[in-house]
Amino acid sequence: MLTGRRYLLALAPEQVAYAEAIGAVCRSVWNTGLEQRREYRRRGTYINYEEQCRQLAEAKAEHAWLTEAPSHTLQQTLRDLDKACRVHGTWKVHWRSKARSAPSFRFPDPNRIAVRRLNRRWGSTKLPKFGWVRFRWSRPLGGTIRNATVSRDGNRWYVSFCVEDGVVAVEPNGKPGIGVDRGVAVAVATSDGLLRDREFTTPGEVKRLKRLQQQLARQRNKRSNRRRAVRSKLTALNTRVRARRADFCAWTANRLARDHGLVAVEALRVVAMAKSAKGTVEQPGRNVRQKAGLNRSILAKGWGQFLDQLEHQARYTGCEIVKVPAAYTSQTCHACKHVAPENRESQAVFRCVACGHQDNADVNAAKNILGRGIELVSAAGLAVAGRGDLANRRSAKRQPPSGSRRVCAYATETPRLKPREGSQTAKLTPTID
Ligand SMILES: [Zn+2]
Repeated sequence: MLTGRRYLLALAPEQVAYAEAIGAVCRSVWNTGLEQRREYRRRGTYINYEEQCRQLAEAKAEHAWLTEAPSHTLQQTLRDLDKACRVHGTWKVHWRSKARSAPSFRFPDPNRIAVRRLNRRWGSTKLPKFGWVRFRWSRPLGGTIRNATVSRDGNRWYVSFCVEDGVVAVEPNGKPGIGVDRGVAVAVATSDGLLRDREFTTPGEVKRLKRLQQQLARQRNKRSNRRRAVRSKLTALNTRVRARRADFCAWTANRLARDHGLVAVEALRVVAMAKSAKGTVEQPGRNVRQKAGLNRSILAKGWGQFLDQLEHQARYTGCEIVKVPAAYTSQTCHACKHVAPENRESQAVFRCVACGHQDNADVNAAKNILGRGIELVSAAGLAVAGRGDLANRRSAKRQPPSGSRRVCAYATETPRLKPREGSQTAKLTPTID
């Protein structure tokens, strides 16, 4: 399977300047290429990757600064642009901005990339025109290199290798299923009653963040050195927060994918949900401020990243990720299936108005999500196996016949999914007087 390995680069000051320069040339090629494609579309025609590459070669003869960057990185930029335009449409592809887009460029030819290990802590890689650059050897490569990307994240530079690790498809692991409810109050609630969350900023950092932002807002001269220093501090702080979030997502996703055969998650449309509620001039949106708050919370919890991590980890653990429609999962009673908005007593407490079943609201939702996930998988299993009702009656303990891997391996609830006396579920459920 193809996978990524990212290492922290230790660039000398002149190498940083060179990397910035390559990034700038690639950005310029991207923007020019995009403008060209749009102009062609305005005239009702189309320009493809090969033609743009040919014109790039011609332009190099005229503009010496284009030859500064390794030619492969420029071609790769045009190839990425071609792909972006084909996937999203020429008019939806974004410009690259000097201030907002971090520089990133790829060396696509593995024959021109070399990696060697210097000692326990350090490795070194040879990149075209760059020469040997040192990087922090934080993990083994574990495969053959396909390409290398150099990019800046915050104030640091990284090299990522795309690696073929030689792992072929992993068999389903046959472990029990679990439902996951992603929320705003608690990042991840699971159907076994665990609530996983983490603060990504300390109180001191929140204070510092606010002070730096105020400082930045007061600075009128956009190009002053002091402003740049404040920006750099702000970037360092934000990078640290982002790293903690990424760690939480990876860690949680790893535990879920490692210990379970099926993870059911809500099919939330994070991008659509997080879009601003402002609307248009003719049709102004409603609840703009509340929506803005929810947006920040959604993005702050890293939902999209969590799902990406889950899918990545599941490739290696033989775990299946099922996305289920999220409608009414928070209002449905898991015990009697009664649906009512009044069931949700508060953000944290769920109490069924029909049967009196009581649970943590997010855990109850996670159980419903697991139920739907199992339904979906067994429906798909029947379709694959084509055995009508038989698959429903088969004992869950029996090994699924080979060739129909989706047959109800998860179709019964394992004991650990039921709320236990004195379990964490009970502990987490707030008592109501
Ligand atoms: Zn009920």
